[in-house]
Amino acid sequence: MNLADFDTLSKVLRSEGFNLKKSLGQNFLIDPSVCPEMAASACDKNTGALEIGPGAGVLTRELCGAAKKVVAVELDERLRPVLKKTLSDKNNVEVIFGDAMKLDLGALIKEKFSDCERVAVCANLPYYITSPIIMHLLESRLPIDNITVMVQKEAAERLCAEVGSREAGAVTVAVSYYALAEILFGVGRESFMPPPKVDSAVIRLTLREEPAVKVKDEAAFFRFVKASFAQRRKTLVNTVSASMGISKELLREALSELSLPETARSENLSMGELAFISNYITK
Ligand code: SAM
Repeated sequence: MNLADFDTLSKVLRSEGFNLKKSLGQNFLIDPSVCPEMAASACDKNTGALEIGPGAGVLTRELCGAAKKVVAVELDERLRPVLKKTLSDKNNVEVIFGDAMKLDLGALIKEKFSDCERVAVCANLPYYITSPIIMHLLESRLPIDNITVMVQKEAAERLCAEVGSREAGAVTVAVSYYALAEILFGVGRESFMPPPKVDSAVIRLTLREEPAVKVKDEAAFFRFVKASFAQRRKTLVNTVSASMGISKELLREALSELSLPETARSENLSMGELAFISNYITK
């Protein structure tokens, strides 16, 4: 069954009386080249693949071929009969109906993938929760090798930007702390049914064994990063002192230790410099 074919997908959905729901980010892939490449980039035959949002199962079917085992978490119960039909010829997949943001994914991985050498998350993510899902996966410190996902092109550029560049934001620093991020390839809006308003890209986040930098207090580091990127046009000293109630003098001292001017902005700083300042102002 070729679900990446528009007519085949439409027929399957119609036969089960299924209507796409925009609020759940249901733009289904209809480009035959995308899923095989995503699956091959994420998995090998020893990998347990966790998919978030299988939809009608187009990527799920590819993952069944590329991985040892697939567990797909889908929020929309209405897809139960569709997935039953589209995955009926696959014997290494299990679909769990639930909210990926609320399920205990750590327990799920432990239970389902104990016989796999590694675990990968592979998904065409619902765009309304791209960053929350990615941050949830990273912050939960799950035993994951890589997260290979399709996201909006702008989100891909932000998530995979270089820390210290204009494109970077607080989320870039957070991703970079946990993972090595790369854009694998772009996917045009015409590759989806219905076509969304923007183009997409597939990114791969390969999780680091250790965080990119050493910080005294992780929660304090992320509070500092969030504050320092909140008003990008202002200097770091002004933004952070106003939003965190930290004295300007202390922030200037930290910058001077790094031989940086007091007019420095967060978008010009490296991971190491951000970590140093956070450690300096954290008692
Ligand atoms: N994988 C399919 C494809 O590529 O054609 C569908 C991708 S579609 C962009 C996103 C899917 O995520 C939909 O099937 C939607 O119902 C599901 N979804 C939305 N929110 C979810 C959540 N919180 N947890 C799990 N699945 C979710």
